[in-house]
Amino acid sequence: MVIMVGLPARGKTYISTKLTRYLNWIGTPTKGQYRREAVSYKNYEFFLPDNMEALLIRKQCALAALKDVHSYLSHEEGRVAVFDATNTTRERRSLILQFAKEHGYKVFFIESICNDPEVIAENIRQVKLGSPDYIDCDREKVLEDFLKRIECYEVNYQPLDDELDSHLSYIKIFDVGTRYMVNRVQDHIQSRTVYYLMNIHVTPRSIYLCRHGESELNLRGRIGGDSGLSARGKQGVCEEMTYEEIQEHYPEEFALRDQDKYRYRYPKGESYEDLVQRLEPVIMELERQENVLVICHQAVMRCLLAYFLDKSSGTTFLSGPGMGAAYELPYLKCPLHTVLKLTPVAYAKIGAECITKVSATVERAAKGDTGTEYTIKTSAGARRATKADTGSKCATKLALELGDPPM
Ligand code: ADP
Repeated sequence: MVIMVGLPARGKTYISTKLTRYLNWIGTPTKGQYRREAVSYKNYEFFLPDNMEALLIRKQCALAALKDVHSYLSHEEGRVAVFDATNTTRERRSLILQFAKEHGYKVFFIESICNDPEVIAENIRQVKLGSPDYIDCDREKVLEDFLKRIECYEVNYQPLDDELDSHLSYIKIFDVGTRYMVNRVQDHIQSRTVYYLMNIHVTPRSIYLCRHGESELNLRGRIGGDSGLSARGKQGVCEEMTYEEIQEHYPEEFALRDQDKYRYRYPKGESYEDLVQRLEPVIMELERQENVLVICHQAVMRCLLAYFLDKSSGTTFLSGPGMGAAYELPYLKCPLHTVLKLTPVAYAKIGAECITKVSATVERAAKGDTGTEYTIKTSAGARRATKADTGSKCATKLALELGDPPM
């Protein structure tokens, strides 16, 4: 279990959402955000330390969340559960530790500590103004109410303690990653978590993904290839073949690939699953970078795009007509002559724009719950995918329009 700790507006949800996405991407089934809201919110008074009724409700919420954690880790396929709540008292953390001990779960705490009033105010503006607690409320009043809500928590806040908690596993993140303190990392997942958290930042930026320029082989509908490579021995058995040729020469291979495109390995080649592992350092570097352009092959782009758009490899299935139970990642459409602009926005879904022919007009893409809409301008003029056309279906249309070879 990963347990978040910290006052409101310290980036707990931001961190847990990103970490969940990352762990799923590297192939560790993870579910996050067990924050339960059971009441309709009026104002900060709900959080006053002497509001006994509210305290009881909040404890029940925590217990209900822990029950969810138990079903996920013990009865579903889950390996990591991220419990995103304030967990600011020793009492609440003891309850969680007791629960974890009963079920034999390991616990790793992530505490975010930040006391810069400007950062806090900006965080509230960025993510709390749009919260369901504050629908149709005046912006300044929301800020005021939220600051009072934080004060309610401050009264009883007991940060993880160097001495009292020296037996626990945790990372403390100070001032948005300016400083860290790491204690008793117990295993591989915890150490990867620490490594990941030490690489992310919150500076606004965009990541541009683009396939390499069209090659002779692309024109002839042949996959892979690298003119710089001369020795055939260096290439996989199916390198430079068309899909029809692969089907003809290696029918069994072709069928296997169709069954599980994510895990399928070309003879002497690599699978998408292998590629994700190989790309992890690239993701770390992309997390560290500010504005950056990546030019890559289609398979690489699919893996990177899957990470940023949270299209997990092993847990999400598409069930549309003709799709069967296919993983999403290997089917993400990445047309040629196109730059994808990804703009992370707090912990909402990442905004993605599709820019064709590089110099063409860029339009903002709307964000949808089911996927990302791509807005695209082709030489024939602008067209925007309709709301129903989200995700890969929309991208498929665009790819076809651009004459990309089907995959
Ligand atoms: P919480 O869940 O603690 O109430 P949120 O996750 O809703 O807070 O806050 C999101 C905001 O926190 C974003 O604007 C993000 O830039 C910011 N943020 C992300 N990481 C941190 C951090 N380590 N410390 C402080 N703020 C952060």
